Amino acid sequence: MNDSSLNTVNSMSLNLNDDYLDKKRKKMEISRNNTPSPKEIKKMKFGRLVQAEEDASLQKFIDLNTLPTIKFQDAYKLYLQNLNIELPESDKLFPWLHEYEKNDQDLNLDDLLEFKQNHTMILKSCYLLHDDISGESYIENSGVLKGSINLKILFHQLEDGDSMDTLIKTLTEEINFYNREMFQLGLPKNFIQDGDVIESIFDACKVNNILPILKTKQLNPNSLSYYNSASKHIDPGSYRKFDFQCCKMLLLSSRALIYCNHKDVLECSICKGARHLVNLVYHNTISKLKIFGDIADITRFKETFLKVSIVDEFVNKVDDKFVGIPLLPTDALRKPEHQLVSKFDTYIINNWEKDFLYRERLEMSRISSNTPMNDNLWIGNSIDFEVSHMGLVLRRSFDEANTFHQDNTICLLDKLNPSEVNDIHVFNYPQCLWDLFIHCKPFVGNNEEMFEDKVAIEAKLNDNEKIYFNFPASGTLGLGNLTLHLIKNIFQCIDYIHQITTRLKKRALIFAYDGYSESSFLILAYTIYSKQLNLKEAILYVHKELKRPFFVFPNDLEVLNYLQILLLSKAKERIMFEENTTQLIYERFEITNVDFTNMFFNTSIVPNIKSDLDCMMNLKGPLPSQILDYLYLGSLKHAESFNLLKDMDITCVVSVGERLTILEGKEPESCKVEKGNNRKVVIYKIDGITIYHIDKLLDNGHDPLLESLYEILGFIESFRKSNNNAKILIHCMVGVSRSATVVIAEVMKELKISLVRAYLYVRVRRLNIIIQPTLLFMYELLKFEEKLHEISDVPIKGIQEDCKRSIDWVTLCSSIDELNEYYLNPTN
Ligand SMILES: [Zn+2]
Repeated sequence: MNDSSLNTVNSMSLNLNDDYLDKKRKKMEISRNNTPSPKEIKKMKFGRLVQAEEDASLQKFIDLNTLPTIKFQDAYKLYLQNLNIELPESDKLFPWLHEYEKNDQDLNLDDLLEFKQNHTMILKSCYLLHDDISGESYIENSGVLKGSINLKILFHQLEDGDSMDTLIKTLTEEINFYNREMFQLGLPKNFIQDGDVIESIFDACKVNNILPILKTKQLNPNSLSYYNSASKHIDPGSYRKFDFQCCKMLLLSSRALIYCNHKDVLECSICKGARHLVNLVYHNTISKLKIFGDIADITRFKETFLKVSIVDEFVNKVDDKFVGIPLLPTDALRKPEHQLVSKFDTYIINNWEKDFLYRERLEMSRISSNTPMNDNLWIGNSIDFEVSHMGLVLRRSFDEANTFHQDNTICLLDKLNPSEVNDIHVFNYPQCLWDLFIHCKPFVGNNEEMFEDKVAIEAKLNDNEKIYFNFPASGTLGLGNLTLHLIKNIFQCIDYIHQITTRLKKRALIFAYDGYSESSFLILAYTIYSKQLNLKEAILYVHKELKRPFFVFPNDLEVLNYLQILLLSKAKERIMFEENTTQLIYERFEITNVDFTNMFFNTSIVPNIKSDLDCMMNLKGPLPSQILDYLYLGSLKHAESFNLLKDMDITCVVSVGERLTILEGKEPESCKVEKGNNRKVVIYKIDGITIYHIDKLLDNGHDPLLESLYEILGFIESFRKSNNNAKILIHCMVGVSRSATVVIAEVMKELKISLVRAYLYVRVRRLNIIIQPTLLFMYELLKFEEKLHEISDVPIKGIQEDCKRSIDWVTLCSSIDELNEYYLNPTN
């Protein structure tokens, strides 16, 4: 901060001169109905001040010159306490956590006092990127205590265009407001007026690029104020404001702990500034929002004030239970030879509180890793490709490489040892060596070709060289850009794959980045051609026989629906051809203009072509997502497609709040009313399918789910007991919020894993559809985790011994927000 700007802050914050104090007193007098007696005036002037000074607990709070610190091990105890406090019932915190306008005053402190007194915010004040003395550079996301968030998550960001003047102006306003409030409370020692203190607050803001305004409300860009009294407008988007939860919980904390990785945290001016900053915004916010009533009520104030301390001696502890990720030099990012996992990655894998995106990718690589389509053709993802090219398989015998994790999930993974980094624990290894790689990816420009000319391919085949094809990614082909040239190429590629794998017995891998969406067009087209199945049969074949997760876009279905005509007619020719010769012949079929035209007009070869397409185009995916062997998650449209359900052997449908139209006028098997919430649970049996319908459960941010959850899971359990190998579809409208919540709970219960693990487990398996349970549902799931942990006879993976929960609300929400942010703003 330069000298002139600092002067501005000082002069503005120090306007509490005698004139001001006189006016303030006058205002207090005028606000009374009767003229006060001289005695009363005296009381008004000094009453609060005297009372406050007598109070020992306030005394500590008042003295800003002593820097309270807390021992590292005591801070750890507070972290554990966060995981052990009873979470308030959801109706005590909602809709407040959903951020409705003007509902702050509705919050009842008495209901939340016990929680508040036991809840601590743990905040990292800044990063240590480079140590000037040792010359060491550190990884930004390392040096993290468990249950902690970065300071900047709490605050509105300084926008790119904002100058330092904006920060100075806002800071001055906030400090003035704060000092006036402290004056009113009779706590003059508590004023922020020391130049060093103001400068340290400024620095803490500048380093983190933040304004000293909590992110509790949408910021009004014109006035930089956030306490406007807008209409009581309820925005459904507010049900998923994961980014606001940290501020909400700061207001519900009685302590904040600040730390960083600098050698001597007590001398660190950023930590010092952060301490004052947190204190400042906390009091300004509860005062402006009046969330615990009037701050001038001194007894209330004592109950609610925040104690901010600095954690001592956290510099470079490694194997401590309180350390999420130790401070690691950039060296730790280096991957050992023939490995994809670095030491840093191992630490990330072990810390289930953060970096959900990395975990999501690992999980994705596991569910879509290489599986055989026939003896020589495999389907996989880019990790399979990378691992096979790193010579991993060559370096090890096939026995050792047989680390194909049958559980196919990292959600059951135990803690890895970072000093023995080895990605054999993390990835599925390729199950064989491939000669041909077909990469499905978005094509860049019009000139990109799928493969080299036939002479080059032939030469490579003869020399046993590896061959690479490219194929346009699913979703990028539309009826509009289908040309005869493109159709010829698609067909040629499919036929090459078939010839090379079945007649030359070379091994091939079809792969795409995620392993389930970009390759699905080719996989379905190839299945149609090689197995002589129509499109619908091919979809069911890939799901039921190959057991592959896949996602097909509507335009893929549209193109495949016509392309199958060509593929099926050429498949017939191929079989006749193969009976007569053993020779390998490229371009054995000519694709003519007539073939091209027939695709669109000679639809007699595939009956029901139109109705199949119409049905599937409406179903995103088009199949419901398989989450466990017996459990599917889908939409209302999936649930209403009875033929599809039968094809998939699904015999039970759980309708969470949405009613199937087929139930109209049908007699139920049974009907009962849930106690407490007055919800009806009605069971029907129609056409061999059992439908469990639960009413009055809307995705409106109000309707709680927890009580019904136990009922639903109980029903699933008893249905499975009485029906061997039963497959069950859980659905709501879209299959992202209500039903996803039920499915997450079922996965927690079935696999005995914590909420975060189950959330990611389900999220990845919903493929291209992003599950988004509301804040209320996530909160209820955290309560459910507590209950599950309490009643389960085996330990729940992810919950630390002697803790009630695996994670606290603050960390959970900030990590989910970080993950969502990636999909909303992928460039960041
Ligand atoms: Zn610091």
